[in-house]
Amino acid sequence: MFTKEFIEKQRDIIKNVSPLPWHACSCGKCGMISGEHDHIATAIRGDWGDDYPDIRRIGGSIEGKFETFMNQITYGHIPEETGNVNAQYIEQACNNYPEALDEIERLRGALKDIYLLPFGQNVRYADQIITSIQKKAEKALNEVTK
Ligand SMILES: [Zn+2]
Repeated sequence: MFTKEFIEKQRDIIKNVSPLPWHACSCGKCGMISGEHDHIATAIRGDWGDDYPDIRRIGGSIEGKFETFMNQITYGHIPEETGNVNAQYIEQACNNYPEALDEIERLRGALKDIYLLPFGQNVRYADQIITSIQKKAEKALNEVTK
């Protein structure tokens, strides 16, 4: 799926989005995701569906009045906590996507280099790369669990 063309297309899209990084609001109540100057999105929490304007009678049936209100054809419900985690996931996925594309290309290049090396030498090189990736992963894990 992550062909050279697909990655180029992703990079073109990233060039035109609101500048990264994006931040999920830390209040845990609003699900808002924003950039430095832009409101990017709001993760849905609670009922979701098609919202539409509607009219209802208020007061008595003789001297009653009507008021407009927003109604909804509800299709589903997202618990508040899940909605807040969804906002954090969108933040993390979007902020780290460019680096993930870089990593895919870097590893693809490394695999090509290994493939082109004579047998024996390529095995040692592959071991070095695997060790390097393990060290990076351990370092990242240590930073997350601090
Ligand atoms: Zn908030």
